[in-house]
Amino acid sequence: MSGDVFLIVERGTRIYDLGPQHPLRPDRVLLTWDLIEACGLDQLPNVQVSGAAPASTVDLGRVHTSAFIDATARAGHGEGGDWGRFGYGSGDNPVFADMHEAGALVCGASVAAAAAVWRGEAAHAFNASGGLHHAMPERASGFCVYDDPAVAIAWLLAAGAERVAYVDLDVHHGDGPQAIFWNDPRVLTVSLHEYDPPFFFPGTGGMRERGGSDAPGSAINVPLPRGTGDDAWLEALRTIVPRAVTEFAPDVLVTQLGCDTHHTDPLAELRLTTRAYRDGAAVLHELAHGAAGGRWVATGGGGYRWAHVAPRAWTLVFAEMAGAAGDLPDELPTAWVERAEARAGEPMPTVFSEPSLPAHAADDEARQVVAAVADIVWG
Ligand SMILES: [Zn+2]
Ligand SMILES: [Zn+2]
Repeated sequence: MSGDVFLIVERGTRIYDLGPQHPLRPDRVLLTWDLIEACGLDQLPNVQVSGAAPASTVDLGRVHTSAFIDATARAGHGEGGDWGRFGYGSGDNPVFADMHEAGALVCGASVAAAAAVWRGEAAHAFNASGGLHHAMPERASGFCVYDDPAVAIAWLLAAGAERVAYVDLDVHHGDGPQAIFWNDPRVLTVSLHEYDPPFFFPGTGGMRERGGSDAPGSAINVPLPRGTGDDAWLEALRTIVPRAVTEFAPDVLVTQLGCDTHHTDPLAELRLTTRAYRDGAAVLHELAHGAAGGRWVATGGGGYRWAHVAPRAWTLVFAEMAGAAGDLPDELPTAWVERAEARAGEPMPTVFSEPSLPAHAADDEARQVVAAVADIVWG
């Protein structure tokens, strides 16, 4: 049950590069496309590979202020100015060359995915370079310049979609889309994330954040404790997301699939293995067909084990989107492993699967959180 699937491969997005010491490395995405190709998924008869053009100022302007867009362009072209006012200059968001062009191209890739799905050229579309979900209307944040999931959602609404559901599985709260559509009843935002304020970024995403006065109930948050593992995370996903999205009855499902939830991720403390990405993608795929007419726009997101985890996680996601998950061998193609090892300078895993981790006290705590969230939402 897949239909045509678009794989957005826009290698120009490699200019979204915050520097050699920064965790958000372009290699995360480049190695993902390499692995998808090495597995032959781009050659499937139902898969079409497409590039993208930069998002226009009109597209960006549905989400971001003109002052912020102008400041981003000028700072990225080397002009001096009070860029700290717009979130630039910190370790998270250093000014980098051509950052407006880089951010606009990532947004354009997510808009291309949204447009392919909305126009019926594809049932599903995947932009692994996207998922920059912390950017705010007038401020860069959390490695993110422009908020491509929000720009894609705003494009869908402008194109005629009446309702869009956004599901964010990154380990960090999807604070950008939640804030941007806080008062918009046309957009449901659902986020599963590690939650430990004020220590864990961004500190928002408590279970009582439910949307603004014009859109009560339009935000749902599942704030999970550090240490949550595969089974409890998948239970949270299956308990909250399909019911919430099905009740909302969206025209399109947009998902952010950050894989910084992995147990080895250096920036976070959830304990997922690749099984959660494989099984989670299957849940979303079934949901897209059951609740959104099959229309599914997927982006990447965080994921800072850039060679070990992100390429495998997102290849598993794309195999599911393409209806090929059951045919994907567990062995990684040798040529890809060699290339990734050369890039990373250390040994790579040779299979998609990983051993299960032992149960953890956080899993029961996570189940209590899920019960509390269900009570708040449906009580
Ligand atoms: Zn499908
Ligand atoms: Zn993240």
